[in-house]
Amino acid sequence: MTDPTAELPDFPGRDELTALLVEVLPDGWRQAVEQGDEASVLELRATIDNPAIVRTLGEAGWVAPHYAPAHGGRGLSRAEARNALTLLQVWEVPHVPRGSGLPLAAPTISEWASDSTKARLLPKLLSGEERWCQLFSEPGAGSDMASLATTAVRDGDEWIINGQKVWTTFGHAAEMAMLIARTDPDAAKHRGITYFGMDMRAPGVEVRPLINMAGQLEFNEIFLTDVRVPDLNRIGEVGEGWRAAMTTLGAERHALSGLRKKKRKSSDEILGGKPLQEVLAMAVDSGATHEPTTRQALARRHIEGQLLSLTAQRARARAAAGQPAGPEGSISKIAKAASNQRLQETALAALGADATAWPEGDDGAGQWIEQFLRTRANSIEGGTSEIQRNIVGERVLGLPREPDPYKGAAWKDTPRS
Ligand SMILES: Cc1cc2nc3c(=O)[nH]c(=O)nc-3n(C[C@H](O)[C@H](O)[C@H](O)COP(=O)(O)OP(=O)(O)OC[C@H]3O[C@@H](n4cnc5c(N)ncnc54)[C@H](O)[C@@H]3O)c2cc1C
Repeated sequence: MTDPTAELPDFPGRDELTALLVEVLPDGWRQAVEQGDEASVLELRATIDNPAIVRTLGEAGWVAPHYAPAHGGRGLSRAEARNALTLLQVWEVPHVPRGSGLPLAAPTISEWASDSTKARLLPKLLSGEERWCQLFSEPGAGSDMASLATTAVRDGDEWIINGQKVWTTFGHAAEMAMLIARTDPDAAKHRGITYFGMDMRAPGVEVRPLINMAGQLEFNEIFLTDVRVPDLNRIGEVGEGWRAAMTTLGAERHALSGLRKKKRKSSDEILGGKPLQEVLAMAVDSGATHEPTTRQALARRHIEGQLLSLTAQRARARAAAGQPAGPEGSISKIAKAASNQRLQETALAALGADATAWPEGDDGAGQWIEQFLRTRANSIEGGTSEIQRNIVGERVLGLPREPDPYKGAAWKDTPRS
């Protein structure tokens, strides 16, 4: 038996982390990992209490070890923290709280909030005690998010929120929300916005679930009536909410682009859809590979997968060399969405009539169409592909900006849908 973490560079607190893992993981886990016995790891995984392990690790500062101890981390350097997280990964230990807290809210809070706000919001986020959702989009403000009409009015040490949000993924299960609201209707639309961490359990928050076309409960409408948010939960200065929201959206684009190393949830898990290997196996099993057009389509999907993976490697190499992000980030979100959708279309073509009709009780067969339907959202969620193309045009290719006849006008004087 070999210890797969033996070669890993050291970091402060390593013995403490190892002792904690011995305490929280079931007997046999470590041996199964050491022997590469994935079947036993899977079996043991079904017996553990995932959230409890995440909470223990988060409370001890191991979910984001590079954060300050007062903010729920251990104050390690980035490199030391990477080694600690690699150790957790090698031991296949669950350490990621659900929801968009860790990937989206944490970097935003970290960059924009005051120390006292960080101390309030980060520790419970990192331990998974408070799971987060994102309250940005509104019925009249999606792509043009800066038009948002939800208001926040100051009342002493609190803000009173009124308005409606929509498309809130995971809103039915989250304890906290990243909220952007209008605090100055007289300012230009990008200027009068402020960012808050809002408690979803507060009086006045009404969550109405929406069922997507695959029949799943994924997102919600949220109605906000006189909801009180303490000023302590303000993330960034009053009127700086747009810039803070750009941090969140940048992190979201990155998470959906396939550029991130599979540390937490991979982009494939977030985007849904059947992976290429599964589509290939199905096509071979069903004999669809004998059909020339299906064979060609499968070959194209393989090539697209390779291109995306090489682009991701190039982006990581730039980051590792300390170079600024190149155009890879902007193009990958568009390319990943389109390629994932094409892959699901190829799968349905290979299945033929079996894609839409299957024997009663054969849940596996139904998953193909369900995954196909889920991936239609890929070119909308996290910013539509059209909007991403505008970003590439303006910021990467340097083309003229989209004309805005109301540029600089007060939000209250601009038309809204
Ligand atoms: C599965 C899913 C999960 C989501 N989760 C969340 C969430 O958790 N929180 C949240 O806040 N939001 C969430 N969203 C919302 C998402 O960010 C918006 O749907 C998206 O930004 C588009 O906004 P919209 O739906 O209002 O469409 P619109 O903005 O009305 O766009 C309609 C069409 O017009 C096009 N269009 C609009 N403006 C332009 C332009 N300037 N140039 C070219 N074309 C344009 C768009 O590309 C689109 O095709 C989610 C969406 C989906 C599908």
